[in-house]
Amino acid sequence: MPTNRQTKQRTLIMQALQGRLDHPTAEQLHRELSAEYPHLGLSTVYRNLELLVQRGELATAPSPDGVVHFDPNLTEHAHFYCTRCKRLLDLPLPEQLTEQITLRPGQRVEAVQLLLSGQCEECGSKTDPQAESQS
Ligand SMILES: [Zn+2]
Ligand SMILES: [Zn+2]
Repeated sequence: MPTNRQTKQRTLIMQALQGRLDHPTAEQLHRELSAEYPHLGLSTVYRNLELLVQRGELATAPSPDGVVHFDPNLTEHAHFYCTRCKRLLDLPLPEQLTEQITLRPGQRVEAVQLLLSGQCEECGSKTDPQAESQS
């Protein structure tokens, strides 16, 4: 496969992710991109996402659903998983957080992945989502 084609695919995927806050999965991105680029395969999307993560151009977000979610936000931040709408939201991470955690001698922090779960502000304010959709 020619290199320029690979670069083009990677640029395409990066553009689809840029500025997004919804932490899409590879399947989600593939579904969106295949509407415009029907020849783009899921394995190609997977391969490029993996490569971008390896190169440090893309981050992954932890999620209790067991699926890898991709995150273009490379600054350290925490995530909030809503157990109702299954959305993964960004939260700012307190700067001195790692300083407040007592490490054992010799331990050195290289990355922080903090995941909180519960109900997001939208779901928390709804008592019955079914009653809401009927109105
Ligand atoms: Zn929610
Ligand atoms: Zn994030």
